[in-house]
Amino acid sequence: MRQQITDSGGLFLFEKKVTDFVINNNKVIAVKTACNNTFTADAFILATGHSARDIFELLNDKKILIEARPFALGVRIEHPQQIIDGIQYHCDIRDNDLPPASYGLVQQVNGKGVFSFCMCPGGIIAPAATSPGELVVNGWSPSKRNNPYANSGMVVQVEIRDAIDAIKNEELKIKNVENDPLLMMRFQQMVEQKCYNAGGGNFTAPAQRMADFSNAKISATLPRCSYLPGLHSVNLQQVLPGFIYQSLAKGFIEFGKKMKSPNNSFFSNEAVVVATESRTSSPVRIPRDKDTLTHPQLKNLYPCGEGAGYAGGIVSAAMDGERIALELAIVLA
Ligand SMILES: Cc1cc2nc3c(=O)[nH]c(=O)nc-3n(C[C@H](O)[C@H](O)[C@H](O)COP(=O)(O)OP(=O)(O)OC[C@H]3O[C@@H](n4cnc5c(N)ncnc54)[C@H](O)[C@@H]3O)c2cc1C
Repeated sequence: MRQQITDSGGLFLFEKKVTDFVINNNKVIAVKTACNNTFTADAFILATGHSARDIFELLNDKKILIEARPFALGVRIEHPQQIIDGIQYHCDIRDNDLPPASYGLVQQVNGKGVFSFCMCPGGIIAPAATSPGELVVNGWSPSKRNNPYANSGMVVQVEIRDAIDAIKNEELKIKNVENDPLLMMRFQQMVEQKCYNAGGGNFTAPAQRMADFSNAKISATLPRCSYLPGLHSVNLQQVLPGFIYQSLAKGFIEFGKKMKSPNNSFFSNEAVVVATESRTSSPVRIPRDKDTLTHPQLKNLYPCGEGAGYAGGIVSAAMDGERIALELAIVLA
């Protein structure tokens, strides 16, 4: 892909962090980078991903319109793969011709959606924080899917009102929280910081066995886990926002009723709950006109991909990029 772009006259500039936009007459005329370079262009695609908090802060500081966006937050859970195989294939030992089993679960709990996200058969729980003092986990599977564990995000829909209430409960001092476009990002950051502190620092993650989690009981021991920085046993009820904890605690029990076999149940103390899975999608939307695909205030700025709020995952982010590129090819022709 890079070769084709270079052959067509494109240029790649790595290690160039955008730190400012130069704006004139409702247009971006240049971007500035950390090393004080300035790049001018006729149009700009802004595709900095859902964790570019500095870019969200920059847009907000420059009074460029952005909006708080509902997203989902929760935990990652990990079972021995053998339990998931046993439930899905109704067997004790998976036949070698079968792939490690996966699952997808969704449940309404007290009017809130609780669902599995990014299930990774034979996978690994990975640290995914982007700033010091914050704890974020994510998951992935190696191509052979041959790790002995099955992990999945388990998340709860977070609405604007939920975040406002949670921030007020924690007595965080945020000015005019109801109208803050960065409200959902601040909520996300607050939970990540609480999890970092609860884990004891050094990216050790706060964790609890699954049945203990739903019974609000600290686990005396924790099972082996693929998360390399390690786990620290805590009562996650005291770490997660109340509505997240309540929804997950009930959701796990319901999932156990849906997913079980004579010898195995999804709701099991052999599974471990690891906090926090908080980067499911962008907590901010950068608005754009549905026809021109440009920002409503800046006529040559094209918000794009997951960070702008128009994609959720690799394929949809790539397709959004294609859409913007096609539009630009027409506009700049
Ligand atoms: C561990 C892990 C596993 C995942 N697994 C899957 C999966 O299996 N399937 C799936 O569909 N999705 C998965 N995802 C999500 C997927 O990676 C994203 O949805 C996708 O990459 C979003 O694409 P994007 O182009 O919008 O943003 P990104 O891929 O995040 O790209 C944004 C880019 O902008 C750069 N950037 C940010 N700020 C600046 C700045 N100020 N100046 C210059 N550059 C900047 C970043 O360095 C980055 O290169 C996973 C994510 C993680 C972390």
